[in-house]
Amino acid sequence: MTKHIFVTGGVVSSLGKGLTSASIGMLLERRGLAVRMQKLDPYINVDPGTMSPYQHGEVYVLDDGSETDLDLGHYERFTSSPLSRDSNYTTGQIYQSVINKERKGVYLGQTVQVIPHITDEIKACISKLAGAEVDVVITEIGGTVGDIESQPFLEAIRQFSRDVGAENCLYIHLTLIPYLKAADELKTKPTQHSVGQLRQIGIQPDILICRTERSLGKDECAKIALFCNVPVEAVIEEKDKDFSIYEVPLSLVDHGLDALIVKRLGLKTGEPDLSAWRDLVHRLRNPEHEISIAVVGKYAEHRDAYKSIYEALDHAGISNRAQVRVQRIHSQAVQREGADRLLAGVDGILVPGGFGERGIEGKVDAIRFARQRGLPFLGICLGMQCAVVEFARNVLRLEGANSTEFNKDTPHPVICLLNEQRAITDKGGTMRLGAQTTRLDAASRSMACYGADSIRERHRHRYEFNNFYREQFAAQGMNVTGTSPDGGLVEIIEIPDHPWFVAVQFHPEFKSQPTRSHPLFHGFIGAAVRRHSQRPERIAQAEETT
Ligand code: GLN
Repeated sequence: MTKHIFVTGGVVSSLGKGLTSASIGMLLERRGLAVRMQKLDPYINVDPGTMSPYQHGEVYVLDDGSETDLDLGHYERFTSSPLSRDSNYTTGQIYQSVINKERKGVYLGQTVQVIPHITDEIKACISKLAGAEVDVVITEIGGTVGDIESQPFLEAIRQFSRDVGAENCLYIHLTLIPYLKAADELKTKPTQHSVGQLRQIGIQPDILICRTERSLGKDECAKIALFCNVPVEAVIEEKDKDFSIYEVPLSLVDHGLDALIVKRLGLKTGEPDLSAWRDLVHRLRNPEHEISIAVVGKYAEHRDAYKSIYEALDHAGISNRAQVRVQRIHSQAVQREGADRLLAGVDGILVPGGFGERGIEGKVDAIRFARQRGLPFLGICLGMQCAVVEFARNVLRLEGANSTEFNKDTPHPVICLLNEQRAITDKGGTMRLGAQTTRLDAASRSMACYGADSIRERHRHRYEFNNFYREQFAAQGMNVTGTSPDGGLVEIIEIPDHPWFVAVQFHPEFKSQPTRSHPLFHGFIGAAVRRHSQRPERIAQAEETT
C-alpha cells in the first residue's frame, strides 16, 4: 500500500514548501524508499507556460515537454523521482478535464459540482502516482491555507485519508514563526491561526515544520504543540539557512523529521545514507577557488527567473571546487552603461533563455565582449540565438542581422521561426518542448564535456538557427557542433578558436544535480577557473608565494 504525505503551507507564501518537500523526498529515498513527488497548484492557468517570470519565476520543463512549476526543479535536483505531466496539476487542468468529461456526457443526469466532481478529479490525480512499486507519494499543495483557490485541494486531501485509511496518510504543515524585534520574541499566534484554519476544513496536521530565523526554545515548542494539538516531537524547527539550501535536509534530520515520518507511517527502513549529501555540503563549504560569473538577463533582479541556471552554476562550482559568485546583470544596463564597465571583472558570462525584444541589444553587447576578450561564454536558448546574431553582425558583417522574433523585416534573418511553428497561433503549450536527441560533432568541445556523441536535452523554443547561413558562419569560425539526428536543426554552436565559447538551443540547466553537475556547466566553470588563475594579478600572487 502506497503511503501519502501531504505538504501544506500557512501564514505566508514563499516559505520554501517546495524545498522542504524535496528534502523530505530525498531523505526518504536515502532510507531506501521509492518516492514520487507531485505539486498541485491552485491557480487557473492550465500551466505556468504563459506566465511572466515576474509572476511565477522560471518555467521548469520536463522530459515529456510539460511546462511546470519551478518547485519541480527542486524535486529533480534532490530526488530521483521520475517526473511527468502527472507531477503537476493546476486548477485549470482539473476544471478542463471535468468540463471535457461533462461535454462527453460522463456525468449525464448529474449537476456537476466542486464536491464531489472536482475533488474526485483531484483525488484521481493524486492516485495516479501510487502503485505497487511506490512506497511514498509526496503531494505539495501550492498557495497558503486560507486562500479561496486552494479550498478544493484541501477538501480533496481531507477526503483522501477517509478513502485510503488515516494510517496511510500524513499531513505536514509548513508555517512561519516570526520574530518580533521590539518584543524580542518569537510569535506562535500566526501558526495557531493557520492550523486552526486547517482544522476547520477537517485536517489535523500530524507534523508542523516551523520556519524561523531564530531557534525555537522548549517553551515555544511546547506552546505550539499544545495549541495546535500535536505532540512536542512533531514540532520541527526549520531555521533559515544563510549558507546554502543544500543544508536544509541535513538540519531536518538533526531535528528528527525523517525518523518521525517513517515511524508515523509504519515504514520499515534503516537509517538514511547521507554520505554523498554531507560530502557535497563539505565541498560547498571548502572551495579552493573563487570566481565570478555574470548572468546577463532581462530579469536580473528576480531571484527565481533563472532558478535552475543559478543552481546549475552552484553544482558546477561544487564539482570544480570553486565558489561561484553570480553577478545578476540586467541586459538593459549593459546596453546603457556598456559591457566594459559592467563586465570587466568577471571570469565568465552566461546569457540565459528568454522571450521578447527588451534587453536583446545588451545581451548582444555582452556576448561580443566575451567573444573578443576570450572570456568563457555559455549561451542558452535565446542566449545562443543572440550569439548567432552578434557573430553575424560583427564578424560576418551582415548589417542589421537579427532574429525574426525581434525584427520581422531584418535583411539577414539568421534566426527564424521553426517550420513546424509557422501555422501555430495558440500560445499555451505550443513551443518545441521537451527532451530531444542531439548528435554531437566528434571534434567538438561539447563532445569533450559530455563524453558521448548523442545526448538528450530539454527544449522550449519557437525559433532556430537559419540553415541558409551555416557555411558562412563556419567559414568565419563559428561551427555548428550539435544538430538534431537528421542534421536539420542546429542545437549547438561553438567558436573553436576561443578559449571556451559554447551556446546551445536547449536548456542544460534542467538536468543538473548537486551531486552530478551538468557536463556543459562543469566545462564552463572549469574554463572560468582557468581564466581566473591566469589573471595578471593572480599570476603575480602565485609567483610571490613560490
Ligand atoms: N524566444 C526564443 C524562441 O522562442 C528563445 C526561447 C528561450 O530562450 N526559451 O526560440
